[in-house]
Amino acid sequence: MAAANHPRDASRPKARVIFLGPPGAGKGTQAARLAEHLRIPRISTGDMLREHIAQGDELGRAAAPYMAKGGLVPDHLLIEMIRKRISEPDCLHGYILDGFPRTLRQAEGLEQMIGGTADVIVFDMEVPHDELMRRLSGRGRDDDKADAVKKRLQEYAERTTPLVDYYRERSRFHRIDGFRPQETVFAQLTSVIEGRS
Ligand code: AMP
Repeated sequence: MAAANHPRDASRPKARVIFLGPPGAGKGTQAARLAEHLRIPRISTGDMLREHIAQGDELGRAAAPYMAKGGLVPDHLLIEMIRKRISEPDCLHGYILDGFPRTLRQAEGLEQMIGGTADVIVFDMEVPHDELMRRLSGRGRDDDKADAVKKRLQEYAERTTPLVDYYRERSRFHRIDGFRPQETVFAQLTSVIEGRS
């Protein structure tokens, strides 16, 4: 591999990206594609928590009851999990956060960890409510049962939407219409990242 393409190349700018948006907005798909494109890790807190549950460890046991009901896992557990994860060497050139932060306390925790969020790019993916319900009811995950879906959307509305104003003031905030073909959405994301829009 050419030196300029080496993953530890010090000249590569650090790209830190946060995806906001309700469950079902397409964050996971876009975050995964963008991570591959930028050669930085996608950090999905939902996936990480599901792995802890599968392993049956302490964090998994603590998180499981909240997740099963569609509620949020306590902030201090998420903040510690992220603190450890972003200090790993593969995060040296940045990372994409998918599903974190989800509360103001988590956002403040992150801000302290990384010393300011002015250079962080925040994509707020929005999709009409009816479309979200349609997408979520077809996914077949344990927490996609009607009650849990309702609770997850409610938690998002109450506890995560305040982050829109939070990041609008502090970061490079972009609202993204997620009710468009995947390709179109992805083209917009890369155009923002590459400074073309
Ligand atoms: P997700 O896969 O991002 O939809 O997350 C699935 C579930 O994991 C959520 O419904 C929450 O119970 C839990 N979870 C994931 N990320 C967080 C977070 N940042 N704060 C609290 N709970 C979370």
